[in-house]
Amino acid sequence: MTNPILALARPDILQLQPYQHAAWDPTLERMHANEMPWRATGDNTQAGLNRYPEPQPRALVERMSQLYGAPAAQLLVGRGSDEAIDLLVRAFCRAGQDNVVITPPTFGFYKVAAKIQGAGVLEVPLLRPGFSLDTGQVIAAGREAKIVFLCSPNNPTGNLLDESAMLRVCSELAGKALVVVDEAYVEFCGRSSLVSRLGEFPNLVVLRTLSKAYALAGARLGTVIASEDIIGLLHRIIPPYAIPASTVEEVLMLTEAPQRATAAARIRTLLDERARMAARLERCANVARVYPSDANFLLLECRDSRQFFEAGKAAGIIVRDFSSYPGLAQCLRVSIGTPAQNERLLAAVERA
Ligand code: PMP
Repeated sequence: MTNPILALARPDILQLQPYQHAAWDPTLERMHANEMPWRATGDNTQAGLNRYPEPQPRALVERMSQLYGAPAAQLLVGRGSDEAIDLLVRAFCRAGQDNVVITPPTFGFYKVAAKIQGAGVLEVPLLRPGFSLDTGQVIAAGREAKIVFLCSPNNPTGNLLDESAMLRVCSELAGKALVVVDEAYVEFCGRSSLVSRLGEFPNLVVLRTLSKAYALAGARLGTVIASEDIIGLLHRIIPPYAIPASTVEEVLMLTEAPQRATAAARIRTLLDERARMAARLERCANVARVYPSDANFLLLECRDSRQFFEAGKAAGIIVRDFSSYPGLAQCLRVSIGTPAQNERLLAAVERA
């Protein structure tokens, strides 16, 4: 049965004749894609960088399917969650007509992607204290929008959004809007992903990335997990050969069982360091507040954020300045580093 949410997609995208890339058939020798028949000198990759990669590499999609516990047909891989956000906005929002909903303070690219597409941005700020979802207002705004972006754990505040509130948004907006839950930091929170709820909510889309917990930000590999119909629609508009062959090979190598075990151990170390940093920062004269975090960073409210920032810089460390964002006056975001880096930053700000 076709997902009724597809009726929300841009009609011209539904009718688009997708780009026909060169057929993928590794049993045949390639004289159909205007590639050079020889490798560049020193190209030691498995597939050869002279060849275009497989458009949605089957082995990679299978690996992400194992990692995230969803069938391969419900997955699309792209260049980071950033590309996923861009594709979703472009597939669903008509320029000058459709809107997205965001819940600031939140990840900045939702708004930018919407604006690049010419879509409107409806803002429903998170509620103080604790940056919780204003569920009723999000639902009301969602009725005027094509996509609601929720980020949990949220960047830059660090907190999880209430799961029942997110699912209520999904059920109230069934058939009316997509609810995109960005789980970039979910591996740091000890809670399960909403992937397991996709069957119940056909308008739910989950975004996952290898950039954070798997330490592969430079590989640029993000995954959209949604109903087969939504994934099919995104297949129509993702640029040809989106994933570089080198990324495919590296990600397959670096997400094997031993690397997954290392990632899990590093997450445990990082969580210990996060607790240690929070405790030390709370005692710092310049720190007015350390917000609770379910992610790999801490949001701090300083008495003098400039001074904190400069003290870090003098010790050779840059943190992220959010002090000019609405609602985040005097706030900085510190990504948890190695124990040595954390110690260096702490020493610098304690001295200042
Ligand atoms: N979503 C959130 C909430 C993020 O914080 C980030 C990166 N900072 C992204 C998505 C983008 O991730 P990727 O590297 O997968 O494009």
